[in-house]
Amino acid sequence: MAKNNNSGNSKSIQGKNISVSRRGFLTRGAAAGVGAAAIATAGSQEAEAQARWARTADVVIIGAGVAGLPAAITARDNGASVIVIDANYDIGGRGILSGGRLHIGGGHALQQKLNVKDSADQVFLDWIRHDHADSRYSDRDLVRVFADENVPTYDFLVANGVKLIEKLVGPEQSSTVPRTFLTVEWENPAEIIAPKRQRNGSGLVRQLALKAREKGAEILLKHRMTKIIRDGRSGRVQGIAVTAEGKTFNIRALKGVILATGGHTGNVEFRRMFDPRLTEEYQQACQPWVNQDASGEIAAMEHGAALWSTANQTTETAAAITKTRHIGCQWGYSSLAYEPESPMFKFARAVGLTVKDWQNVVMVNDRGKRFWNELSGDYDFFAAAMQWNGDPKKLNGGGPIWAIFDAEGAKREKWITQPPHVDPAGYFFQADTIAELATKIKNPHQHRPIPGNVLQDSITRFNGFVDAGKDADFNRPKPVHKIATPPFFAAWSTPILHDALTGLRTNTNSEVVDLHGKVIDGLYAAGEAQGGFSQHGLARCLVFGRVAGRHAAKRRAIT
Ligand SMILES: Cc1cc2nc3c(=O)[nH]c(=O)nc-3n(C[C@H](O)[C@H](O)[C@H](O)COP(=O)(O)OP(=O)(O)OC[C@H]3O[C@@H](n4cnc5c(N)ncnc54)[C@H](O)[C@@H]3O)c2cc1C
Repeated sequence: MAKNNNSGNSKSIQGKNISVSRRGFLTRGAAAGVGAAAIATAGSQEAEAQARWARTADVVIIGAGVAGLPAAITARDNGASVIVIDANYDIGGRGILSGGRLHIGGGHALQQKLNVKDSADQVFLDWIRHDHADSRYSDRDLVRVFADENVPTYDFLVANGVKLIEKLVGPEQSSTVPRTFLTVEWENPAEIIAPKRQRNGSGLVRQLALKAREKGAEILLKHRMTKIIRDGRSGRVQGIAVTAEGKTFNIRALKGVILATGGHTGNVEFRRMFDPRLTEEYQQACQPWVNQDASGEIAAMEHGAALWSTANQTTETAAAITKTRHIGCQWGYSSLAYEPESPMFKFARAVGLTVKDWQNVVMVNDRGKRFWNELSGDYDFFAAAMQWNGDPKKLNGGGPIWAIFDAEGAKREKWITQPPHVDPAGYFFQADTIAELATKIKNPHQHRPIPGNVLQDSITRFNGFVDAGKDADFNRPKPVHKIATPPFFAAWSTPILHDALTGLRTNTNSEVVDLHGKVIDGLYAAGEAQGGFSQHGLARCLVFGRVAGRHAAKRRAIT
């Protein structure tokens, strides 16, 4: 870990925090730097808070998702009492809606059974590759821990009853050998959130939650963490403030608080720190089930926590921003759609029209102009979608993207252009002419009406490319279908945000580190709330959840 080199600043920090003059605070508070002011505030609230601890456990975990649940089990396995809270009404976080494609190797028993040669060293080498954006920017200290913990994490999953499909997938992402294994979907459709959509991740989190409860972890749902409480004198994290059913109270953590809150992609202000183009119109995969609101990161940053490997968030790979696949609904992420059977359907309002062949649509920006080859899923597509379109009031972000198609396109795709498949309340429109269609497009993110003549010109020009057999503007391969048969349709297809690939800085024990390289005593982060490793998804969350739970459980308790 980096050495604290801030000791020379302690005078000015002392000066700023003159009201908190105890030596113990000054030593640690000065080391915390920017966090010192926050500690002073937290410290002044502390005496009051300590008198009103509503609940106490050795380890308090925020988030009953992919990182939080293994943290809970591991902390229990190591003898700690555990309270997990989650803001949602059910467990699982984004993990329950994930495809369950688990990227874990290192030579575990299933790999051996399927004759895959792998090792912890190979995992390490693959995930520090300089020739791959998935691995180039990651913290190699964290990757080393990840690599060494792959086999123990596989063993942990098996020991806790998680089932994996015995079939090789991959190599994927940065890996050079097959390491992707799908978890078996949960057997009860009523507990899958998006039944009918092969949400294999449900089998992972449901089983881990079952085990966590069986082993004695208490899971409090509809409980939202609002603040981390830190002792003003020692700087040690003492617990959290929580709201539930309109009441606010504090939960004390004798050994540690683990932030497993997921990432930040749903917080516009936060995500724009990494890329100012990511303005409000970009929706988030997994909404409305879970909103990644950055509450974990912000609560820690209020105590001076640092972020880590922020380059990961803006690498030009498709894990952070993706093309919609289900168009004409608000949230159309790749493999996820909410059928009427889903408890989320009443919030999602539509299933969406699943695109099989992008040749059936033309995509236009909020000015009604084509912007890129519609068949592309490359980063260039997203960059073009986010380019400035000449709106003097909106210089950042590109505005909504609309897929335009006609009755023939709908027929080829076998789309039913009515609810529940589409959402006419701002995400799907229909008209008898292209110019009329333009005037009908109204959405909170569509700041200005699309001029009918511009949209008509775009479609006329594209139809000319079909006649010519060549897209002279964006080189779309062989444009084949004209958009000419009424009715005409416009379906929301704005790119959708996916992974948080940066988050809080931690050391190899998953302990959160502040802006001066010092551990924030008693605070941990795992999962998408943790930065430093840009691997997509489940595996890094499981691994560092276990690491955090184990380390926190073994600490000395506050007396
Ligand atoms: C549609 C979809 C498909 C995916 N498929 C795959 C896949 O196949 N393979 C893969 O590897 N990855 C996949 N992923 C990614 C993977 O699901 C996530 O990376 C993973 O779930 C993140 O785990 P986490 O513990 O950080 O967050 P989560 O699992 O989201 O858990 C965070 C929890 O914290 C709670 N929380 C947040 N803030 C607070 C607060 N202030 N107070 C209380 N509780 C709070 C939330 O309610 C949530 O339950 C997919 C993601 C999506 C959206």
